[in-house]
Amino acid sequence: RKRPVYTVDDYVSAILKGDVTMLSRAVTLIESSRPEHHAMAQEVIEKCLPYTGNSVRIGITGVPGAGKSTSIDAFGMHVLNQGRKLAVLAIDPSSERTKGSILGDKTRMETLSREKNAFIRPSPSAGSLGGVARKTRETIVLCEAAGFDTIFVETVGVGQSETAVHSMVDFFLLIQLAGTGDELQGIKRGIMEMADGIVINKADGDNIDKANLAASHFRNALHLFPPTESGWFPKVITYSGYYALNIDKVWEMIDEYLDYVKGNGYFHHKRQQQAKYWMYESINEALTNSFYNNPKIRALLPRIEADILEDRISSFMASAKLLDLYFAEKGGDQ
Ligand code: GDP
Repeated sequence: RKRPVYTVDDYVSAILKGDVTMLSRAVTLIESSRPEHHAMAQEVIEKCLPYTGNSVRIGITGVPGAGKSTSIDAFGMHVLNQGRKLAVLAIDPSSERTKGSILGDKTRMETLSREKNAFIRPSPSAGSLGGVARKTRETIVLCEAAGFDTIFVETVGVGQSETAVHSMVDFFLLIQLAGTGDELQGIKRGIMEMADGIVINKADGDNIDKANLAASHFRNALHLFPPTESGWFPKVITYSGYYALNIDKVWEMIDEYLDYVKGNGYFHHKRQQQAKYWMYESINEALTNSFYNNPKIRALLPRIEADILEDRISSFMASAKLLDLYFAEKGGDQ
């Protein structure tokens, strides 16, 4: 049986009504590598844009095992109990290499995945981090248009993907565990500097004292960092995702932050900066794709690469040659 063909307006009107089946299909268009899908997705996004921007976007990171999925389940239920609608998205560039996403898998958030007001979507898997991040950002737009007023964007705290997530959220939450006293060592300074809140998970049972100790270490460490651009001083809170303890404290912190940055104008400022950043990111991604997908470039690249490896040409000459070829052809198009 042939699949029904939907128009841009079919997608848009269904999404604006909160139809998650059509939302899912539209996200599939965003993720597709086919140019006609991409073009259609762009039209859908464009028409949805006037209905977006009213959500709270929260980035959540932590190393594997920190308890991200357990915590998102607990945080998510807390959010739903406030009568809100939640979309959980992920950025997991590793999924391309491993051919399996370690994040965003529906089965990881067992409670949430049964809730009709929660929309869980695994990380897009194709392409570069930039491409994956763009797709997630576009998915945020569609989710907001579909009435999701809270967006979680999850990522693993091991690489550059935090920066990508940080550039699309209002609040960046870092999940940590109490360790053996040297917990600060493993954390990249850059990631801690991005955090608006640090939460120590697994503060339950015998682990409570250790978690409190870790929290005071983090608080001390935060004092050594320069003041944040927003003027907000990051908070450290202990909680248990598994036993759902202190989840309300985590949420009070986020609400307090939002009040603060909405009051001083930083919330709006940050979103504008992000929009600017994403314009350049989109341009860079499109130019890079156009260059590397150009048939003449594709044909010539292996030979030039070999020439470089055999010392027959310098990297400067090689790149100039390729770029000249590309631009000569682009000029000829007009
Ligand atoms: P992720 O890899 O960051 O998504 O971590 P998971 O959510 O899969 O959790 C890793 C392990 O830690 C699992 O075995 C969880 O059951 C356990 N865990 C997660 N949160 C808690 C918690 O609050 N307390 C305790 N005791 N265990 C937890």
